[in-house]
Amino acid sequence: MMPVVPPAYRGRFAPSPSGPLHFGSLIAAVGSYLQAKSQQGQWLVRMEDIDTPRMQAGAADSILRTLERYQLLWDGEVWVQSQRLDRYQQVLEQFKQQQLTYACNCNRSRIQSLGQGYDGFCRDKNLTEGTLAWRLKAPATATSFTDQRAGEIQIPATLAAEDYILKRRDGLFAYQLVVVVDDMDQGITEVVRGADLIDLTTRQQALFQLLGAATPAYMHLPLAVVEPGFKLSKQNHAPTVEFWPVSETLAAVLRFLGHPPPKELQGADARELLAWACSHWQISQVPSQTEQKSTDFL
Ligand code: GLU
Repeated sequence: MMPVVPPAYRGRFAPSPSGPLHFGSLIAAVGSYLQAKSQQGQWLVRMEDIDTPRMQAGAADSILRTLERYQLLWDGEVWVQSQRLDRYQQVLEQFKQQQLTYACNCNRSRIQSLGQGYDGFCRDKNLTEGTLAWRLKAPATATSFTDQRAGEIQIPATLAAEDYILKRRDGLFAYQLVVVVDDMDQGITEVVRGADLIDLTTRQQALFQLLGAATPAYMHLPLAVVEPGFKLSKQNHAPTVEFWPVSETLAAVLRFLGHPPPKELQGADARELLAWACSHWQISQVPSQTEQKSTDFL
């Protein structure tokens, strides 16, 4: 019998260019980079610019220049989601044909009044007229999964059972759909990202199964927060790391990820710091809490 050769490691960093890179996204970039490069894998970069109203002109370019400044050099071409709309439509059509979807015309205020989880109001209506969103009839979705870092993670049952949106009423594809199509098409073997997305993992795994594709492994890094419960994000105007001093900032990221560089490396440049981190990278050293205050590491 032929030995089964596991696929070579392919990881990715998938920022949304709604603003320049901030400390929180730099953590996801460095963590996913080290996880890939410490296994001689590939590290891809993908621009998740699907939610066009939230995108900022020039942000994608600024993110790439910042990654270069920090010596986070990606493999291959950068994929850009706004250039892949035909592919997403093709997958949506396939789901429609398989009767896995339904059209929905619920407005925002009705959906908001429901609180967490859509109630399937339009499931049996067979709507064809008007401005419609497309929802996936919730496939069998697990309520837990094994995270590579944090172990067994429980997912709220309402999330696992929700008929969530694949394409919005405004015609934009939902993150839920495109992230899986791209991870599949790029042959990603492990997704490493911030813990804010942890609860969506079993949905994504279920979508891989519907598409008949191998599901990647998932690892979620602690989230940088301003205060407990408040993610450091572009929405709360987290300052960009674009012009921060490279060595100090990278050392802070490595401390955040449980890999404090030794004293001898004080003032070392990005290349040296990353080379050291790559050869010392161990998932078990990455802190297991889901949130850490960014200021504790800067
Ligand atoms: N584009 C998402 C974000 O910037 C990340 C998606 C992912 O890593 O799955 O939050």
